[in-house]
Amino acid sequence: MPELPDLAILADAFHAGLTGRPVLAVEAPGPLTVRGTPAELQAFVGQRLERFYRRGKFLWLEFDRDRIAVNAMLTGRLQLAASPTVKKPQKTIFVMRFGARDGGAPADSAAWTSGAAWIPAPDATPELRYRDPTQMGKIYLLPRGVERLVPGAGPDEVGPDADDPELSLEVWRARIRRHPGELKYLLRNQKFVAGIGNAYSDEILHAARLQPFRKRGTLAPEEADELYAAVRTTLANAVTVLRDRVPPTFETEVRDFLAVHNRGGEACPRCGQRITQTEAGGFVTSYCRHCQR
Ligand SMILES: [Zn+2]
Repeated sequence: MPELPDLAILADAFHAGLTGRPVLAVEAPGPLTVRGTPAELQAFVGQRLERFYRRGKFLWLEFDRDRIAVNAMLTGRLQLAASPTVKKPQKTIFVMRFGARDGGAPADSAAWTSGAAWIPAPDATPELRYRDPTQMGKIYLLPRGVERLVPGAGPDEVGPDADDPELSLEVWRARIRRHPGELKYLLRNQKFVAGIGNAYSDEILHAARLQPFRKRGTLAPEEADELYAAVRTTLANAVTVLRDRVPPTFETEVRDFLAVHNRGGEACPRCGQRITQTEAGGFVTSYCRHCQR
């Protein structure tokens, strides 16, 4: 499931590669994925992409009139095809073709994308493609003037982004006091902080040396502070790795550098003991019972 680091890379890259271009064509061979009418979908043709960004686990595309929200859920992946002739991945269920733009990437593109070879040439006709083998993800068409619910993205459903500069240690301390429960559940709760899912919650807890099933109420103040530091460093380190590893195949999810998640039975990179793995609640949780307390 794409989480904050994966989606941060996508948002930066697609903003740099596509913003400023007009939509030439759009099709949705997997209509179950699209929330909106065929007429609303075709009305994107001719609109110019103004901004592509991430908020929580959602990607947002802002055009000069309408908007699109993407929730990739478990298996949704986005491809940036330099031209329509690039072979489509299997189970591609949404394709948006863009036209030429004047000049290169927008001025507010992320610095790490500057001069990247995978940014389509100004006169290219690149495609944004969405593939989703389980079709659990959703693409919400949000025409101006149409009220359409985007579940999980409402103002009461999304807390501050886990990498938001305004989420200071003081803000963190105040927020964590209001959220009880097990630490893994807490980190995955988008109302507490947004963008963290199953994989990175394991990584963060390993970095903080805290066990996933511990209750927030048992944390000493300095442990809550350590958890904050682990959120920031774990996500920042992952983003740094993914900037190098992911482009130009944005449709692949790179997870092989993680320390504990999905590494049950392997040696803990910190203490060398065997990593424990459970599937409680239907999702994998990996941790080290020797150096996480
Ligand atoms: Zn360990």
